[in-house]
Amino acid sequence: MTTLAHWIGGAPADVASERHTEVTESATGAVVARVPMATPEVVDRAVAAARGAAEEWGQASIAARTKVMFAFRELVHASREELAALIVREHGKVFDDAMGEVQRGLEVAEFACGIGELLKGGMSAQISRGVDSYSLPQPVGVAAGITPFNFPVMVPMWMFPVALACGNAFVLKPSEQDPSASLKLAELLAEAGLPDGAFNVVHGDREAVDALLTHEGIDSVSFVGSTPIARHIYETATAHGKRVQALGGAKNHAVVLPDADLDVAADALVSAGYGSAGQRCMAVSVAVAVGDIADALVAKVRERMAALTVGDGADAGSDMGPLVSARHLDKVRGLVDAGVGQGAELVVDGRTLDPPGDGHFLGPCLFDRVEPGMSIYDEEVFGPVLCVVRRATYPEALALVNADPRGNGAAVFTNDGGAARLFEQRVTAGMVGINVPIPVPMAYHSFGGWKASLFGDLHVHGRHGVRFYTRDKVVTRRWIDPAERRGVDLGFPTSD
Ligand code: NAD
Repeated sequence: MTTLAHWIGGAPADVASERHTEVTESATGAVVARVPMATPEVVDRAVAAARGAAEEWGQASIAARTKVMFAFRELVHASREELAALIVREHGKVFDDAMGEVQRGLEVAEFACGIGELLKGGMSAQISRGVDSYSLPQPVGVAAGITPFNFPVMVPMWMFPVALACGNAFVLKPSEQDPSASLKLAELLAEAGLPDGAFNVVHGDREAVDALLTHEGIDSVSFVGSTPIARHIYETATAHGKRVQALGGAKNHAVVLPDADLDVAADALVSAGYGSAGQRCMAVSVAVAVGDIADALVAKVRERMAALTVGDGADAGSDMGPLVSARHLDKVRGLVDAGVGQGAELVVDGRTLDPPGDGHFLGPCLFDRVEPGMSIYDEEVFGPVLCVVRRATYPEALALVNADPRGNGAAVFTNDGGAARLFEQRVTAGMVGINVPIPVPMAYHSFGGWKASLFGDLHVHGRHGVRFYTRDKVVTRRWIDPAERRGVDLGFPTSD
């Protein structure tokens, strides 16, 4: 069994006598690694390394920075199968899904390769006679990223390629549940030519996170994870003067209108409900059946669920893998038990699955006749559980979606353009799908939810990412023409 190291100053940093936690292989439950939990002193070392690199890296030419990013892109591409295998082992998702995750992360690195276009400041010539004004987007300094277990490659890559390309140094605190991929990414950045110290990884839990949030050497904090922790991150880090974007949990609804193609909708609900065993912040966890289609929709979803194979993510025949940990499995099973106890109709009971190994397996579950007030509806389940809520009319369905405190993604299934347009205009969610169940924006758009799914103003990657990792400086410049010398004038400067 390996003991992982932090990555500080361009190399693994072994630190003696720390607390450790265990990383398990999700499909077998076997312990595969020990991961150290950083103390505030270790965080200090990582931040010092980042600060030491930030000045020089921030002054490096755009060409020098994009050269590193292009090389990194090639290296990640060449290592995509190795990265996907690490994800499969520690997270549990199936290999194709893990390859898709790496691909979506890679797209942000590709976006960052074009940073020169995005860092053009605005210029206004002749704001007054002989005077020009222009803005300089400059790096913020040292950025921290704190990431969840469910996308151990993609979510860190939502952040650091843009941060680094903008000229910042970065300290990543990945999930302690599947930390190995972040170390591989650190190695690839070093191989790509990133200066030592510009990218660091500290493993840990709340102690390490709080040390980052309050550290005077950290300028910005990007967080992705559950809503209660996102709120804590936002409140603590802003109170310590940091720029913060904290993305939280989700409860994504898909509204299926009576005119929708029910086969298309059922395919989408099964794909988005059970892909990655429901452990996606963009998973569909609630299907709202409108009008009289509910019986037919439930039957079609059920039919498709019967064809799903649950197994080790490394087996090519598996459609759905295990949950990330025994603790998470207990939580999800507990919510399914509560759903039954609170009167929802469990149409497909994944608890009866004969587990294909000693890992953290739960079969796909389908609830019908779910209502707000039941914990299976109110809480984020983050497992292979799809809830069907029945509503008589479209306005009632839309009101249900908008009453949810979270607003990450929402989708509508319909062939009626007017109904789809009304949804896109009125729904209170940050990412909307029209006959698309998982509307994850491309790297050149920005990813983020509304309401309790995002604390802060700016979403991740795309133009928002560039704005988050830069701060503008506006220069007003005059080159003196001796013929135009005006002498002393104590009045306030205007352009007249
Ligand atoms: P989590 O909130 O438990 O952990 C996220 C990160 O915070 C981890 O690095 C963890 O070590 C750290 N952390 C945990 N407890 C902490 C504490 N008390 N104080 C400080 N830091 C703490 O989330 P998770 O279980 O790893 O991931 C699943 C959650 O992430 C789900 O809620 C999911 O919806 C959400 N998520 C959201 C998005 C999004 O874009 N909005 C994307 C992916 C995942």
